[in-house]
Amino acid sequence: MKNNIQIAIDGPASAGKSTVAKILAKKNSFIYCDTGAMYRALTLSALENNVNLDSEEELLSLLNKLTISFNHQEDGQHVFVNNEDVTLAIRNNTVTNSVSKVSAYKSIREEMVIRQQKIAESNSIVMDGRDIGTVVLPNADLKIFLIASVVERAERRYKENISKGIETDFDELKKEIADRDHYDSTRKNSPLVQAEDAILVDTSGLNIGEVVLKIENLIQSQI
Ligand code: C5P
Repeated sequence: MKNNIQIAIDGPASAGKSTVAKILAKKNSFIYCDTGAMYRALTLSALENNVNLDSEEELLSLLNKLTISFNHQEDGQHVFVNNEDVTLAIRNNTVTNSVSKVSAYKSIREEMVIRQQKIAESNSIVMDGRDIGTVVLPNADLKIFLIASVVERAERRYKENISKGIETDFDELKKEIADRDHYDSTRKNSPLVQAEDAILVDTSGLNIGEVVLKIENLIQSQI
Protein backbone atom coordinates (compact mmCIF):
# COMPACT_ATOMS: atom_id res chain seq x y z
CA MET A 1 0.00 0.00 0.00
CA LYS A 2 1.17 3.56 -0.68
CA ASN A 3 1.85 6.12 2.07
CA ASN A 4 -0.81 8.49 3.37
CA ILE A 5 -3.93 6.56 2.47
CA GLN A 6 -7.16 8.53 2.73
CA ILE A 7 -10.50 6.85 3.37
CA ALA A 8 -13.59 9.05 3.29
CA ILE A 9 -16.82 7.86 4.88
CA ASP A 10 -19.90 9.99 4.37
CA GLY A 11 -23.57 9.38 4.96
CA PRO A 12 -26.64 10.44 6.91
CA ALA A 13 -26.95 10.68 10.68
CA SER A 14 -26.56 7.52 12.75
CA ALA A 15 -25.62 5.29 9.80
CA GLY A 16 -22.74 3.87 11.85
CA LYS A 17 -20.02 5.94 10.17
CA SER A 18 -17.98 6.71 13.26
CA THR A 19 -18.19 3.19 14.70
CA VAL A 20 -16.98 1.69 11.43
CA ALA A 21 -14.39 4.42 10.86
CA LYS A 22 -12.87 3.91 14.31
CA ILE A 23 -12.53 0.15 13.81
CA LEU A 24 -10.98 0.57 10.35
CA ALA A 25 -8.55 3.19 11.64
CA LYS A 26 -7.44 0.98 14.52
CA LYS A 27 -7.01 -2.12 12.36
CA ASN A 28 -4.93 -0.27 9.78
CA SER A 29 -3.06 2.00 12.24
CA PHE A 30 -4.52 5.08 10.54
CA ILE A 31 -5.64 8.14 12.45
CA TYR A 32 -9.36 8.77 12.73
CA CYS A 33 -10.99 12.15 12.36
CA ASP A 34 -14.62 12.66 13.35
CA THR A 35 -15.50 15.87 11.53
CA GLY A 36 -19.02 15.91 12.98
CA ALA A 37 -17.41 16.29 16.41
CA MET A 38 -15.80 19.53 15.21
CA TYR A 39 -19.14 21.05 14.20
CA ARG A 40 -20.61 19.77 17.47
CA ALA A 41 -17.76 21.35 19.46
CA LEU A 42 -18.42 24.74 17.90
CA THR A 43 -22.17 24.37 18.53
CA LEU A 44 -21.58 23.48 22.18
CA SER A 45 -19.31 26.47 22.68
CA ALA A 46 -21.84 28.76 21.01
CA LEU A 47 -24.63 27.51 23.28
CA GLU A 48 -22.46 27.83 26.38
CA ASN A 49 -21.36 31.36 25.47
CA ASN A 50 -24.81 32.57 24.40
CA VAL A 51 -23.64 33.17 20.86
CA ASN A 52 -26.56 33.79 18.51
CA LEU A 53 -26.89 30.74 16.24
CA ASP A 54 -28.56 32.94 13.64
CA SER A 55 -25.38 35.01 13.28
CA GLU A 56 -22.78 33.52 10.95
CA GLU A 57 -20.41 36.36 11.85
CA GLU A 58 -20.59 35.75 15.60
CA LEU A 59 -20.16 32.01 15.10
CA LEU A 60 -17.11 32.51 12.90
CA SER A 61 -15.55 34.89 15.38
CA LEU A 62 -16.11 32.28 18.12
CA LEU A 63 -14.63 29.50 15.95
CA ASN A 64 -11.52 31.60 15.35
CA LYS A 65 -10.94 31.60 19.10
CA LEU A 66 -11.35 27.83 19.46
CA THR A 67 -8.77 25.12 19.20
CA ILE A 68 -10.56 21.85 18.55
CA SER A 69 -8.38 18.81 19.03
CA PHE A 70 -8.55 15.04 19.39
CA ASN A 71 -6.67 12.87 21.79
CA HIS A 72 -6.60 9.11 21.88
CA GLN A 73 -7.14 7.68 25.35
CA GLU A 74 -7.64 4.18 26.69
CA ASP A 75 -11.43 4.38 26.47
CA GLY A 76 -11.39 5.82 22.95
CA GLN A 77 -11.00 9.16 21.25
CA HIS A 78 -11.63 12.33 23.27
CA VAL A 79 -12.54 15.73 21.87
CA PHE A 80 -11.15 18.94 23.36
CA VAL A 81 -12.07 22.60 22.95
CA ASN A 82 -9.28 24.85 24.17
CA ASN A 83 -8.07 21.96 26.35
CA GLU A 84 -11.46 21.28 27.93
CA ASP A 85 -12.70 17.71 27.44
CA VAL A 86 -16.08 17.99 25.66
CA THR A 87 -16.37 14.36 24.52
CA LEU A 88 -19.66 13.71 26.32
CA ALA A 89 -21.09 17.22 26.24
CA ILE A 90 -21.06 17.43 22.42
CA ARG A 91 -23.44 14.45 22.25
CA ASN A 92 -26.21 16.07 24.24
CA ASN A 93 -29.60 16.56 22.62
CA THR A 94 -29.50 20.33 22.45
CA VAL A 95 -26.23 20.19 20.56
CA THR A 96 -27.50 17.41 18.28
CA ASN A 97 -30.60 19.38 17.40
CA SER A 98 -28.74 22.67 16.80
CA VAL A 99 -25.62 21.50 14.98
CA SER A 100 -27.14 21.38 11.48
CA LYS A 101 -27.94 25.06 11.69
CA VAL A 102 -24.34 25.92 12.62
CA SER A 103 -22.81 23.63 9.99
CA ALA A 104 -24.85 25.14 7.18
CA TYR A 105 -22.89 28.45 7.14
CA LYS A 106 -20.41 28.84 4.31
CA SER A 107 -17.63 30.57 6.25
CA ILE A 108 -17.88 28.06 9.10
CA ARG A 109 -17.53 25.19 6.64
CA GLU A 110 -14.57 26.83 4.89
CA GLU A 111 -12.68 27.16 8.18
CA MET A 112 -13.52 23.61 9.25
CA VAL A 113 -12.42 22.21 5.89
CA ILE A 114 -9.04 23.98 6.18
CA ARG A 115 -8.55 22.46 9.65
CA GLN A 116 -9.63 19.01 8.46
CA GLN A 117 -7.32 19.05 5.45
CA LYS A 118 -4.46 20.01 7.76
CA ILE A 119 -5.18 17.01 10.00
CA ALA A 120 -5.10 14.75 6.94
CA GLU A 121 -1.93 16.26 5.51
CA SER A 122 0.71 13.98 6.90
CA ASN A 123 -1.13 10.89 8.07
CA SER A 124 -3.00 7.94 6.69
CA ILE A 125 -6.51 8.70 7.79
CA VAL A 126 -10.10 7.56 8.01
CA MET A 127 -12.32 10.63 8.09
CA ASP A 128 -16.08 10.61 8.46
CA GLY A 129 -18.66 13.30 7.90
CA ARG A 130 -20.99 14.64 5.23
CA ASP A 131 -18.68 16.31 2.70
CA ILE A 132 -15.46 14.34 3.02
CA GLY A 133 -15.56 12.65 -0.38
CA THR A 134 -16.97 15.71 -2.12
CA VAL A 135 -15.04 18.61 -0.55
CA VAL A 136 -12.52 17.79 2.19
CA LEU A 137 -10.68 14.89 0.56
CA PRO A 138 -11.78 14.91 -3.09
CA ASN A 139 -8.82 12.69 -4.03
CA ALA A 140 -9.38 10.10 -1.29
CA ASP A 141 -8.21 6.60 -2.16
CA LEU A 142 -11.54 5.11 -1.14
CA LYS A 143 -14.87 6.87 -0.70
CA ILE A 144 -17.73 5.13 1.05
CA PHE A 145 -21.28 6.40 1.28
CA LEU A 146 -22.88 4.60 4.19
CA ILE A 147 -26.66 4.43 4.38
CA ALA A 148 -29.44 2.61 6.23
CA SER A 149 -33.17 3.19 6.50
CA VAL A 150 -34.34 5.87 8.93
CA VAL A 151 -36.19 3.24 10.99
CA GLU A 152 -33.10 1.08 11.32
CA ARG A 153 -30.91 4.05 12.24
CA ALA A 154 -33.42 5.19 14.84
CA GLU A 155 -33.61 1.66 16.26
CA ARG A 156 -29.84 1.49 16.66
CA ARG A 157 -29.65 4.89 18.34
CA TYR A 158 -32.64 4.00 20.53
CA LYS A 159 -30.99 0.79 21.79
CA GLU A 160 -27.73 2.67 22.38
CA ASN A 161 -29.53 5.36 24.41
CA ILE A 162 -31.47 2.84 26.48
CA SER A 163 -28.28 0.88 27.23
CA LYS A 164 -26.71 4.13 28.46
CA GLY A 165 -29.76 4.83 30.63
CA ILE A 166 -30.86 7.79 28.49
CA GLU A 167 -34.65 7.97 28.41
CA THR A 168 -35.72 8.25 24.76
CA ASP A 169 -38.94 8.48 22.81
CA PHE A 170 -38.55 6.33 19.68
CA ASP A 171 -40.83 8.36 17.39
CA GLU A 172 -39.23 11.61 18.50
CA LEU A 173 -35.77 10.16 17.82
CA LYS A 174 -36.84 8.99 14.37
CA LYS A 175 -38.19 12.45 13.57
CA GLU A 176 -35.01 14.17 14.77
CA ILE A 177 -32.85 11.91 12.58
CA ALA A 178 -35.06 12.50 9.54
CA ASP A 179 -35.10 16.26 10.16
CA ARG A 180 -31.30 16.43 10.49
CA ASP A 181 -30.90 14.44 7.24
CA HIS A 182 -33.26 16.79 5.49
CA TYR A 183 -31.45 19.87 6.78
CA ASP A 184 -28.00 18.47 5.91
CA SER A 185 -29.06 17.28 2.44
CA THR A 186 -30.86 20.41 1.33
CA ARG A 187 -28.48 23.13 2.60
CA LYS A 188 -26.86 25.34 0.00
CA ASN A 189 -23.23 24.85 1.08
CA SER A 190 -21.74 21.38 0.62
CA PRO A 191 -24.95 19.43 1.14
CA LEU A 192 -24.81 15.77 2.02
CA VAL A 193 -24.57 14.00 -1.35
CA GLN A 194 -22.84 10.87 -2.50
CA ALA A 195 -19.64 11.71 -4.40
CA GLU A 196 -19.70 10.43 -7.97
CA ASP A 197 -16.84 8.06 -7.28
CA ALA A 198 -18.08 6.90 -3.84
CA ILE A 199 -19.21 3.34 -3.27
CA LEU A 200 -22.66 2.99 -1.74
CA VAL A 201 -22.77 0.61 1.22
CA ASP A 202 -26.25 -0.10 2.60
CA THR A 203 -25.87 -1.31 6.17
CA SER A 204 -29.55 -2.21 6.65
CA GLY A 205 -29.71 -5.68 8.17
CA LEU A 206 -25.92 -5.87 8.64
CA ASN A 207 -24.06 -5.82 11.94
CA ILE A 208 -20.94 -3.72 12.48
CA GLY A 209 -18.61 -6.67 11.84
CA GLU A 210 -20.24 -7.33 8.49
CA VAL A 211 -20.00 -3.67 7.45
CA VAL A 212 -16.33 -3.52 8.46
CA LEU A 213 -15.61 -6.69 6.47
CA LYS A 214 -17.32 -5.24 3.40
CA ILE A 215 -15.21 -2.10 3.56
CA GLU A 216 -12.01 -4.01 4.30
CA ASN A 217 -12.62 -6.01 1.13
CA LEU A 218 -13.01 -2.73 -0.74
CA ILE A 219 -9.74 -1.44 0.76
CA GLN A 220 -8.00 -4.60 -0.46
CA SER A 221 -9.47 -4.44 -3.93
CA GLN A 222 -9.40 -0.69 -4.55
CA ILE A 223 -6.23 0.59 -2.90
O1 C5P B 1 -21.52 13.07 12.29
P1 C5P B 1 -22.42 13.79 13.27
O2 C5P B 1 -23.83 13.29 13.25
O3 C5P B 1 -21.86 13.88 14.65
O4 C5P B 1 -22.45 15.29 12.70
C1 C5P B 1 -23.18 16.29 13.34
C2 C5P B 1 -23.60 17.34 12.32
O5 C5P B 1 -22.48 18.05 11.84
C3 C5P B 1 -24.32 16.83 11.06
O6 C5P B 1 -25.71 16.64 11.25
C4 C5P B 1 -24.02 17.93 10.06
O7 C5P B 1 -24.92 19.01 10.20
C5 C5P B 1 -22.65 18.43 10.49
N1 C5P B 1 -21.56 17.88 9.69
C6 C5P B 1 -21.29 18.49 8.49
N2 C5P B 1 -20.20 18.11 7.76
C7 C5P B 1 -19.40 17.14 8.20
C8 C5P B 1 -19.67 16.49 9.42
C9 C5P B 1 -20.78 16.88 10.13
O8 C5P B 1 -22.04 19.37 8.06
N3 C5P B 1 -18.32 16.81 7.49
